[in-house]
Amino acid sequence: MTNFAKLNQATGFQRSSTYDKQKVQPISTKVVKNDENSGDLSLASIASNLHDISTIVNTPIPSSDIAYSSWVVEHPSALGSFDRMMKAAKGKRIVVFLDYDGTLSPIVDDPDRAFMSNEMRAAVREVAKYFPTAVISGRSRDKVKGFVQLSNVYYAGSHGMDIMVPPKPLKPCDATNHVTATASALDKEGDMLFQPAKRFLPAIQEISIALEEIARKIEGARVEDNRFCISVHYRKVREEDYGILEEKVKSVIENYPDFHLTRGKKVLEIRPSIEWNKGHALEYLLDTLGFSNSGDVFPLYIGDDRTDEDAFKVIEARGQGFPIIVSSIPKDTKAAFSLHDPSEVLTFLLRLARWRKTSSSSRSLAQIWGPGNSHKANC
Ligand SMILES: [Mg+2]
Repeated sequence: MTNFAKLNQATGFQRSSTYDKQKVQPISTKVVKNDENSGDLSLASIASNLHDISTIVNTPIPSSDIAYSSWVVEHPSALGSFDRMMKAAKGKRIVVFLDYDGTLSPIVDDPDRAFMSNEMRAAVREVAKYFPTAVISGRSRDKVKGFVQLSNVYYAGSHGMDIMVPPKPLKPCDATNHVTATASALDKEGDMLFQPAKRFLPAIQEISIALEEIARKIEGARVEDNRFCISVHYRKVREEDYGILEEKVKSVIENYPDFHLTRGKKVLEIRPSIEWNKGHALEYLLDTLGFSNSGDVFPLYIGDDRTDEDAFKVIEARGQGFPIIVSSIPKDTKAAFSLHDPSEVLTFLLRLARWRKTSSSSRSLAQIWGPGNSHKANC
């Protein structure tokens, strides 16, 4: 049995067991989660069905479940929509972009222990065999690379401000005045890097020291140096201390007008104010991979946080591709599709790799990737 077959067997391509066990399955699977088999998907129909099931099993269905089910109608499950998605992508080149925290790994209290499972790593490795694949994270590039530990994917850290460039000649990108080809350099391992915020490094180090000083005085606060941005984690900070922490962080940033504060999941992030985000990173990677003007490319982006919305917007503006949000609660998003949690991401990635493996059996990888990317076929 191949490793891939073992993986399939191990996961069984089943949906998240935890989620399914919590749900009244006939409704969430047949009516809501699997939009390809759905009949009447109106909100009234869903609410009515949920009410009927609730009556049958005599167990109240939480309003949060009903809200989620309604939200999924607007952002259908990428698992339930898989066949339709692949039909739309037929003959196109899918390029895969993946966020890390909350997408490939669970959100955990200790950011240093946000490990991805071996199953997830194997799934990403499989996907990267068949599609150009990049991980775009808010973490430092080195840290996310250390978590993922795969040599056949591209890495972009610091929300895309630190990109390990594919080994192809750089092309001009639609960059701002802050972002030019001079931002590229070789690192100590000889990789070509694109670092549009490099000039901010001295200030970032100063800010980092100031924030460390603050964090030392607030129990549970933790500063993470992401190289071109800084995270202040407060997942373990007492609720009554959060206001103090936020005020102190803001007071530091006030001294640095070239920086601003953003918020993620239980984290404050301090970033240089340049027009560069995960959406720009997605475009830049497509550009350097040779897909900038290709109408045939289908970017697929999976992410769970606000910073991923920038990439969703880019895909929406391109008019083709698959923006997929990972969320177990309803939220405003530009994503067209959804996955409930990282376990559904795992299932989706395995299915994607299996789909291409099956459909490519009569074609060479070079045909799939195009002439500029045949080097990846050996990864
Ligand atoms: Mg994330």
